[in-house]
Amino acid sequence: MSEALVEVNHLKKYFPITTTGLFTRTIGQVKAVDNISFRIRAGETFGLVGESGSGKSTVGRTMVRLTDKTDGEIKFKGIDLYNTSHAELRELRPKMQLIFQDPYSSLNPRVRVGDAIGEALLDHGLVHKSEVRDSVLETLALCGLSSYHIDKFPHEFSGGQRQRIGIARALILKPELIIADEPVSALDVSIQAQIINLFRSLQEERGLTYLFISHDLSVVEHLCSRIGVMYLGSMMETASRDDLFRNPQHPYTKALLSAIPIPIPKLKRERIVLRGDIPNPANPPSGCKFHTRCPYALELCKQQIPELRNVGSDHYVACHLV
Ligand code: SF4
Repeated sequence: MSEALVEVNHLKKYFPITTTGLFTRTIGQVKAVDNISFRIRAGETFGLVGESGSGKSTVGRTMVRLTDKTDGEIKFKGIDLYNTSHAELRELRPKMQLIFQDPYSSLNPRVRVGDAIGEALLDHGLVHKSEVRDSVLETLALCGLSSYHIDKFPHEFSGGQRQRIGIARALILKPELIIADEPVSALDVSIQAQIINLFRSLQEERGLTYLFISHDLSVVEHLCSRIGVMYLGSMMETASRDDLFRNPQHPYTKALLSAIPIPIPKLKRERIVLRGDIPNPANPPSGCKFHTRCPYALELCKQQIPELRNVGSDHYVACHLV
């Protein structure tokens, strides 16, 4: 089994809630990420799933230091990213790239796509100016785009092509880890499949490691080898894809899986409908955060936070009943 490329230990990210006015003061905290731990092995695709507001995107942004952590540790290749020199961090940055759901928002409409893809190479001083165009052309081809796209502007591309541009911008830096945050959510189903296939072929070719963040378990099923399920900033279950889909243990995971449509009309799956909405992360429920919506909640669940416990090979569940 390969070693961990990434280790996230007891990560917390709290956002302060402040009053407005002349003298601002902190009156509370939104616990977007609340003490989560996981590992990603070199060459694997780890999926992070959960409803909107579960904190999964904040995990990704904290890992590449787009936002600072509140507590905990993030290690990349054994190096603590929050406790290393500026020079070392600068060297590591190209190796960890983030791809967003909407690459269009991060592209300057007045900058040609070739320049947008190549600029990071120059920023990081990775190649001489004279070599940038060749690198861009090579990366465009890898991402299924043509050489004539190099001089086009972002508005001339379709949604799927823009996501290919987003992938090319990350890929040109020769990263080892790509964090893809809902990269196919805004695309049509047929285009989603093409982009997922592109992620897969790039992984085979380049030996990439992915953290794939999505609210859609059926998308994650196609790409990920291991999956973590988040709810309200906490990790509820982690397991291999096969284990999670065949033998889910946490009531929240079971509810998420029951909502996936089955393509065969004759087969019916009993849908578990969760009561209520996801609670306010500024005021999360006591004990197990899922107890307000869990059909099996006990009195104990309101009082005691369940620990993430091993229930079999590489399968971890945070539930008092398991
Ligand atoms: Fe439900 Fe209790 Fe398990 Fe939480 S700990 S998922 S409330 S049974």
